[in-house]
Amino acid sequence: MFKKSQFLQIGLLSVALMTPLLAKPQVALLATGGTIAGAGHARTSSQYTAAVVPVTQLIADVPEISAIAEIHGDQVCQLASQAMTPEMWLKIGKQTQAQLDKEAIVGAVITHGTDTMEETAYFLDLTLQTTKPVVLVGSMRPGTALGADGAANLYQAVKTAISDNSANRGVMVLMNDTIFAAREVTKGHPFKPSAFESPNTGPVGDFHDNAPFYLSRVDRKVESPFDIRKLSALPGVAIIYGYAGSSAAQVRAAVQEGARGIVMAGVGNGNLNPDTEKALIAARQDGVVVVRSSRLGSGSVTKEAEVDDAKHGFVVGGSLNPQKARVLLMLALTQTVDLDRIQGYFDTL
Ligand code: GLU
Repeated sequence: MFKKSQFLQIGLLSVALMTPLLAKPQVALLATGGTIAGAGHARTSSQYTAAVVPVTQLIADVPEISAIAEIHGDQVCQLASQAMTPEMWLKIGKQTQAQLDKEAIVGAVITHGTDTMEETAYFLDLTLQTTKPVVLVGSMRPGTALGADGAANLYQAVKTAISDNSANRGVMVLMNDTIFAAREVTKGHPFKPSAFESPNTGPVGDFHDNAPFYLSRVDRKVESPFDIRKLSALPGVAIIYGYAGSSAAQVRAAVQEGARGIVMAGVGNGNLNPDTEKALIAARQDGVVVVRSSRLGSGSVTKEAEVDDAKHGFVVGGSLNPQKARVLLMLALTQTVDLDRIQGYFDTL
């Protein structure tokens, strides 16, 4: 017959064995601000202040996320994302990497303002070293608004981050029941909850029936050569917008300000008016790396179509929109000024 102390030992042993089975997955929640942390004065007003609700409150306001995961909240910064900076990308990236390096953390969710979310997402996509899910999430309406979208988006992002089939998909953005790949996503509307889109590829998945449902995958041809742990600063890269009669003064100003690279958001197929083209050729002579992209918002810029890229030493930005081409050029310039190597990054990343 068992003694009382043996029953106690067996009881403790079963609790110890069961605990890992009952334990919730651990998720890092890195908060950076935005409308998802915004608050307004009236439920019907479109006026509000972004980036005022702290991460502890975000977690408390959506108890459903703590019901499915053990949430480790971290307030990285508290910004409306029009105030985001490359220095802050580095901070967000390093803190996210540190969390992902912990064995117990299964994935990361990053709350972010929507205006520049696509840039932070692509930066992280190119620099984080992980196979774990990383999901950026925001909202188009503050939590105080009628029809606020932040709570549902946050819940769906956490659920996506803990789902087994979310690993190895690169950094993703979740908005409005839809999952996007960082490389392809862009904000396409100023206020609708359906503001996000991937014009060239469509989304990679939907969130429905309480789970992420993947439809496709955006593959890169090579592994990214950039590592957040090795980055300490990013070079200045300007974006110049093309339009009928655009002046070369903007290009000259960027060079004078010390830009090491210029992304040209050209017209049509990345085309340049003659004055701008001359100024860009002069910038090349000063060692500035020039990437030709397009202001169109979709499609891919063609090499050597109407511009003699080889002669002028211009890199062609392919299907990246100008703001994403800038992210890649900044990272490329941390490694090289060799034009063939940089063109190779644009062709494969
Ligand atoms: N402009 C603010 C930002 O990007 C609010 C927009 C939003 O988050 O939806 O942070």
